[in-house]
Amino acid sequence: MQAEAKVSDYCDLFLALTEPRTQTDLNEALMATCLVLFPDHNFWLYDYREIDHTSCKLVDSEQNEHRALLPDEVLENITHTEHADRIRFTRKGDFSYYGFSILHSLSGVLITNWPEDNPLLHDVLIKLVGVYANQRFFMFSALNDALTGLSNRQAFDQQINNLLFENNEIKRRSSDCELNNWCFALLDIDHFKQVNDDYGHLFGDEVLLIFSQLMQKTFRDGDLLFRYGGEEFAVALKDVSLESAVKVLDRFRNVVSNAEFPQLGQVTVSIGVTSIEDGLSTPLLIDRADQALYFAKEHGRNQVHSFEALAGSGYVQLNNTHEGDIELF
Ligand code: GH3
Ligand code: MG
Ligand code: MG
Repeated sequence: MQAEAKVSDYCDLFLALTEPRTQTDLNEALMATCLVLFPDHNFWLYDYREIDHTSCKLVDSEQNEHRALLPDEVLENITHTEHADRIRFTRKGDFSYYGFSILHSLSGVLITNWPEDNPLLHDVLIKLVGVYANQRFFMFSALNDALTGLSNRQAFDQQINNLLFENNEIKRRSSDCELNNWCFALLDIDHFKQVNDDYGHLFGDEVLLIFSQLMQKTFRDGDLLFRYGGEEFAVALKDVSLESAVKVLDRFRNVVSNAEFPQLGQVTVSIGVTSIEDGLSTPLLIDRADQALYFAKEHGRNQVHSFEALAGSGYVQLNNTHEGDIELF
């Protein structure tokens, strides 16, 4: 009976580990599983999502979050390996470290205090971290574009809806409307069809990849970057006035037009931006950025326009309700 109950408990743990969920929920499921299987041990989980080159988020068995450093030697051992193993193990002092990779870069480390050799526990942890890393990979693939690695359209829908909701909540509670100002931009590569027609899709794909790398280099860590559709990208810029956002985006436009794209020479981008105002819905936000982008396309391309400036000059209509039908196809 007891053995049956145990098997059922283990199945619950396995279910929790493999359920579709957020990354935080998945982290919790891993920690819970470790503690049920090995109640005499402590566990810590480094999550490299938060890495900023000096420290990263560390979640302990009680789900407290710290910022902490891994010893250099440990990092060296679990990062640099001749084999592309997804789970890499190292040991230092009284601790064991299980580093796991998603798409070839170190994504996190499970740590346990483990003073004595115990091949069975070690074997189980290697496999458990493997299950966890598989789940992380599926979650990553569902929300990231395979070509550029940027967040995809599905992630866009989730994250922008959350951002608008949180933004409205924060502004409702705060009297200072300058706080947490976000701006939103749509970026569309100019004459991209011509690139494909002249050089083929492989070159087209390379342009998309280089373009996304330029985005990652130019925008700040807290900004949200998306591949919105084929050759269309979106950025939510954190803590900026509209004026600063236009400057940042124009700098990016300039970076693109000066970048070296193999064979093609110059590639340019047109950009429409708008401020994320109180009470805006996602369709209305997209519509505003899109109108500014459309204006840039119609007036020579390779330029940045803000919806607000165009509305001020009467070039576009400042509607607060989204009257147009949403086009699905
Ligand atoms: P505009 O300056 O008006 O934006 O012109 P454009 O040619 O960029 O715009 P259009 O929307 O007419 O064409 C977009 C092209 O992008 C069409 C399609 O062939 C190409 N495209 C979309 N997704 C991909 C992709 O994943 N890879 C490649 N290579 N091409 C893509
Ligand atoms: Mg387009
Ligand atoms: Mg285009």
